[in-house]
Amino acid sequence: MERFGQNVFNQSVMRERLPKGIYKNLKKTIDEGLPLDPSIADVVATAMKEWAVERGATHFTHWFQPMTGITAEKHDSFISPTDNGVLLDFSGKELVKGEPDASSFPSGGLRATFEARGYTAWDCTSPAFLKEEADVITLCIPTAFCSYTGEALDKKTPLLRSMEALSTQAVRVLKLFGNADVTRVISTVGAEQEYFLVDKSFYLERPDLMMAGRTLFGAMSSKGQEMEDHYFGTIKERVLSYMKEVNEELWKLGVTAKTQHNEVAPGQFELAPIFENTNIATDHNQMVMEVLKRVALRHDMVCLLHEKPFAGVNGSGKHNNWSMSSNDGQNLLEPGHTPHENAQFLTFLMATIKAVDTYAGLLRCSCANAGNDHRLGANEAPPAIISIFLGEQLSDIIDQIVAGVAKSSSLSGHMDVGVNTLPSLPKDATDRNRTSPFAFTGNKFEFRMLGSSFSISGPNIIINTIIAEALKEFADVLEKSTNFDADLDKLLQETAKKHQRVIFNGNNYSDEWVQEAAKRGLPNLPNTPEALKELVSKEALEVFAAHNVFSEKEVHARYEIMLEQYIKTLNIEALTMIDMANHSIIPAAIEYSTTVANSVNAITAVSSKLDVSTQKELLEELCDKVVSMTVNAKALEKALESAMNIADIEKQAAAFREEVFAKMLELRATGDVLEKIIAAKYWPLPTYREMLFVL
Ligand code: ADP
Ligand code: MG
Repeated sequence: MERFGQNVFNQSVMRERLPKGIYKNLKKTIDEGLPLDPSIADVVATAMKEWAVERGATHFTHWFQPMTGITAEKHDSFISPTDNGVLLDFSGKELVKGEPDASSFPSGGLRATFEARGYTAWDCTSPAFLKEEADVITLCIPTAFCSYTGEALDKKTPLLRSMEALSTQAVRVLKLFGNADVTRVISTVGAEQEYFLVDKSFYLERPDLMMAGRTLFGAMSSKGQEMEDHYFGTIKERVLSYMKEVNEELWKLGVTAKTQHNEVAPGQFELAPIFENTNIATDHNQMVMEVLKRVALRHDMVCLLHEKPFAGVNGSGKHNNWSMSSNDGQNLLEPGHTPHENAQFLTFLMATIKAVDTYAGLLRCSCANAGNDHRLGANEAPPAIISIFLGEQLSDIIDQIVAGVAKSSSLSGHMDVGVNTLPSLPKDATDRNRTSPFAFTGNKFEFRMLGSSFSISGPNIIINTIIAEALKEFADVLEKSTNFDADLDKLLQETAKKHQRVIFNGNNYSDEWVQEAAKRGLPNLPNTPEALKELVSKEALEVFAAHNVFSEKEVHARYEIMLEQYIKTLNIEALTMIDMANHSIIPAAIEYSTTVANSVNAITAVSSKLDVSTQKELLEELCDKVVSMTVNAKALEKALESAMNIADIEKQAAAFREEVFAKMLELRATGDVLEKIIAAKYWPLPTYREMLFVL
């Protein structure tokens, strides 16, 4: 309890250290979203500095989230020269505004390098914190990052804009239901984080893990995850002591690390915190990823956050549990015991259904990257088709609404397991569905498409914005109504009829669903270049503009950056494969085949009657595969070269997907055959057995 939040300049520290008036003033901005009063900055800065210096900090940094998807920092010390030495200083100006010379971040053309000014602006709604790295302690101030012309260059600014949009529209709807006191609604998120751990010594011997974060070659080990013995299995001591240290670091940072367990694949694990305000949850998830990686090194392990580090076993995702909460303490997605009577809940539920169906493409797009292409639709993560799981009880209510007015809620009851000494368990209203990309789980939705390496900002910007739009459309109709109950019933019925098609409670991994979804007209966007196009569709541009989340320019910049990231990722992977083929796999095969050839000669020299057919067959296969490997590597090189020469970025991304990626698969297949036939001591890379099972 003492340690929790000890490195956070949180509200209780502020209450203690700030003059009362200033604390109240700042708290209003944080809690009610009122404009920040610039006159308080100096006092807050001084208190922050004193607190940080007492704890050993020498430097501060504006901590921001450029469009790389990770965080950025530039450290400045507190020292400031005086006549007789230095003093430690931190002004309000330094707290509020920074100007990193940040010309090397992706800007998607929003900024040329010769006009490189970028500004960071203090986000007082996410608390400042101290980062402890070895013996260095740095005061980190969460900030937004924008260009000289005011365009957002980061992942925080649009997230905050989307939260404001959602709040505005949700408050309008709540007022209609008589919630006179509600002034703000925030979206809440709990992000479950999956990751792999590998022994560091293996990592250092795998150029692919080091360069691309995933294995680009690697024959499957004889055992994978089929015994289902790793999932929720006993956690090994080495991993437990790692988790203990991760938790301690996170607790100090005020991150509510709560749940930890072994995941499905060998070497795979999960960490889940308790949900909170989406802006803070997003900052915290960045810290979670950073701490997972940093602490792993202390234990001679490396934490892999790639979506698909190993072919043949599960990849890693991130489950984004999402809801809305009003400042009078209501969870707006809480159905209560009799949801059919809970008109307010049904309205927010229906807005979510409408939003998800209308903007399915955008949601899919928000989870698109090269890594996630290996998961979505690949029978381990939700498919590339967006649908909603509601469960029996709510689906039944939706059916009733479509047919007329909802009159009943199926009851949940109790569960009897047939042993007297075991307790009778209260049963949830619905079972779970692990295959749905957007599942209602009691009082929140769980968006399961995200990849493990993602900033959760992008998907939440989309969720907040599209639900704000649906709520706005509802409010526009209902505010004009003279017969609220009747008009609400009508609105809910119309919406249910129109958007019921997006509800699917069955197995999302089945082939039948792909066909059924096509019949229902639901989009199926199988890969990143296809999915990203959704971002710049007319509907997308309109909804972003309507809620002041992104200007058209900002959207186009992001589209370009994401395409670029896709292209660069595949380029790095292809180059790494060619390098591994030429510098380690082919040489190993040649060395081994020479040994085999020598064996044939040596044995035949003793007696020509000795049978060396095995050696000869092996030699033939080795030589044959060395040739294929060379041919495949050259073909990949050629595909890469021609893709790199395409000027149009959309066409280039498509060429990477269609041509380069296909050639990568061929090269890998040959490499993996060689791994199976080359003697272990000649094989130059750590194997799947070692990487997945040695911890
Ligand atoms: P599971 O693995 O079954 O999906 P977990 O308990 O691991 O469930 O994760 C559930 C996550 O949902 C937790 O992070 C939890 O805090 C979060 N959550 C619970 N209620 C809400 C809510 N109202 N809004 C957002 N997230 C929530
Ligand atoms: Mg989950």
